[in-house]
Amino acid sequence: MVDLKDAIADAMVQVIKLAATRVRKDVRNLIAAAAKEETNQLARKQLEYLLQNFELAAKECLPYCQDTGTIHVFGTIGEQFPIRAGIYAAIEAGIVNATKTIPLRPNSVDPISETMKYKDNTGPGLPDVSLRVVPGDMLELDVLLKGAGSENMSKLVMLEPIGAKERIPGIVREYMINAGGKPCPPVIIGIGIGGSASTCMGIAKKSLLREAGAPHPDPATHTLEIAIKDAVNSTGIGTMGLGGAITCLAVHVDTCARHPASFPVGIVVQCYAHRHARVRVEKDGYKTIPEEFYP
Ligand code: SF4
Repeated sequence: MVDLKDAIADAMVQVIKLAATRVRKDVRNLIAAAAKEETNQLARKQLEYLLQNFELAAKECLPYCQDTGTIHVFGTIGEQFPIRAGIYAAIEAGIVNATKTIPLRPNSVDPISETMKYKDNTGPGLPDVSLRVVPGDMLELDVLLKGAGSENMSKLVMLEPIGAKERIPGIVREYMINAGGKPCPPVIIGIGIGGSASTCMGIAKKSLLREAGAPHPDPATHTLEIAIKDAVNSTGIGTMGLGGAITCLAVHVDTCARHPASFPVGIVVQCYAHRHARVRVEKDGYKTIPEEFYP
């Protein structure tokens, strides 16, 4: 009988390694398309280097960026999944093991006492884990490795509701001009609209887990995604800030209900190194990586 806590810890190592060393198929396809489309020769060359870097990293089984980020875990747990106790500890154990064996850069430090470093990518409040209970009997974990260069560009804007929606593309454009090459473009941008200050940032980050560039099912929301993407690509920032037509690969907007007097907008920027992978752990401990991103 498989120990489910061991299975979860192993699943974490497996999924972190996948995310850190192999690019998602949809992201690679967008970067390959950008390399064909880009007319700025310097930016195009850089895009080709990114594609070569992906190939080398996969071949050598090594992370394709030196900043392996902070680790976010978005999970769902089936009501009939056999265990509850020990799941967080198992996720942490997986991260500690992944840090040592892949290896990952230890990216967890105390915010006040700068000399205090945690050596294994855990620490108070890290990893950032959210688990939702859903019908079913399996555990599904989405792991996102978020580098500092892009995470530092996160922004919350609280707008006056009147005319707010129309202002969003221009606000994001101005914001990305200030960001320039710092988030390592070409980027994917998650936008959360509505809820509270904290919920809109949360849904903005979670929107990054969608297939890159897949349209939001609501046509009006997708129209806004296109308007934001076009606004960002009109900046000419280009790959790594070298200039060019393609700064943004995709924009994902997600929404939730808001207070009539509030219009929160969360902006979460993801660099070209969009390190995300998903694993499912069944009630008998059997693990699978769904094929949508890593066929
Ligand atoms: S922003 Fe992304 S690609 Fe750039 S250094 Fe950080 S993790 Fe790496």
